[in-house]
Amino acid sequence: MEKQELWQSVLAKLELDISRPSFLTWFQETGIKDMEGGVVTVFVPNGFAKEWLQNKYHKSILHVLRTISTDIRDITYVIGKPEGSSSSPLKDQRRKRLSSPVSFTDETPALKDITVNPITNLNPRYTFDTFIVGSFNEQAHAAAQAILKNPGTAYNPFFIYGGVGLGKTHLMQAIGNELLTQNPSCKIRYVPAERYMGEIVDAIKNQSMNRLKEKYREVDLLIIDDIQFIARTEKMQEEFFHTFNALYEKNKQIIISSDRPPQAIATLEERLRSRFEGGMITDVTLPDVETRLLILKTKADTKQVSIPEDVLYFIADKIKNNIRELEGALNRVIISSKLSNSPITIEIAKKSILSHASSPKKFISAKKIVKAVSDFYDIEEKDLIHRSRKKDVVKPRQIAMYLMREELKSSYPTIGERLGGRDHTTAIHSCEKITQELLTNSELEEEIQAIKNKIFAD
Ligand code: ADP
Ligand code: MG
Repeated sequence: MEKQELWQSVLAKLELDISRPSFLTWFQETGIKDMEGGVVTVFVPNGFAKEWLQNKYHKSILHVLRTISTDIRDITYVIGKPEGSSSSPLKDQRRKRLSSPVSFTDETPALKDITVNPITNLNPRYTFDTFIVGSFNEQAHAAAQAILKNPGTAYNPFFIYGGVGLGKTHLMQAIGNELLTQNPSCKIRYVPAERYMGEIVDAIKNQSMNRLKEKYREVDLLIIDDIQFIARTEKMQEEFFHTFNALYEKNKQIIISSDRPPQAIATLEERLRSRFEGGMITDVTLPDVETRLLILKTKADTKQVSIPEDVLYFIADKIKNNIRELEGALNRVIISSKLSNSPITIEIAKKSILSHASSPKKFISAKKIVKAVSDFYDIEEKDLIHRSRKKDVVKPRQIAMYLMREELKSSYPTIGERLGGRDHTTAIHSCEKITQELLTNSELEEEIQAIKNKIFAD
């Protein structure tokens, strides 16, 4: 189970970093065969995938694996099937596993959760029970509630937009699931725009366009996810326009999501844009820290894992832009603690989250760190850089070292040389000291955060 969980967590992270088509192409049917002596053996479905993972994704996979367990040194790839991927009894287990929160979104066709309703395409896990409402999404939530009371008339169409991982799919599917519970005979269809487009292409090829039109025009509720993709081709927009009108005229509810508002979808046809704008448009923004904390607590409860408050707070504080990533971080912390056989502590959280932060950003440099730290503590830059033993530069210098390590991933010798011409042991000592102190000293944490803000603001 552990290796499955580990791989699942790796995939959840990789999915965020690479494009969906690449992800689907290269990571389907992969899994961990075994882990021995720090070497992880990964199953790949064919020679193609093997070569591709080795040449293109090896570093990323290794990086992610190592953030979860530092014992891992290398990866080998073998052609084969992960347990249960064939038609063995394990299949269902594996599929179920993939439906847990860290795993794929259900628009991932080949990996979709077996419990996804084959007619509606809805995933029953997306419900209002598990949907947390805060100021970032309360308008969208209120609109959803209004639609449930009066589908087809209250807000039609309902257009919801916002960044990745902020709950658009969850909310739209929750409306579908709730309507279905209230009225099991209600005809509902959820479809990601990309899949809808694929169906159109197939229908044209197979001369079954009429059947497809029927399928989409007979529903009571049509949910189209990530509509921005449809704007890429005229043919698709044309087809969707007619379906939209057919439904709209019959007062059937239409719910649409996008990563941006209609007027910002450059190639969206005017006639579709004006249809969308004729309904209700709301956005989902970023959850604030309290809401992020609440989301984490709820997820931890669902998993029946007890996690110390400071760990939850730490995660909530660090991951700001994406609820899926928030869940991913929580899972990484849980898994790191399992793998290292130790309780969930703030150290583990820090290790698995900070080391996981994306690689150093180009626009920051040691120079910027030195400047930000000396500005913040109102000391001379040269005192920080040179061998000054003035007492009031000791702590700022340690902080600068810590930041070089955390933000630039500089080596200890480099850090030592750059700051006060010290050897690497001083650098190690400084970084460890600050890391330790951060565990208990929230004032220091705030100071460091303020310095980071300075560094990243410029
Ligand atoms: P989007 O469609 O906006 O990219 P998703 O709906 O796929 O985002 O959400 C990403 C993940 O975050 C999902 O696992 C979802 O269940 C979870 N999530 C999103 N919003 C909330 C929320 N308000 N409360 C609880 N979980 C949420
Ligand atoms: Mg989505």
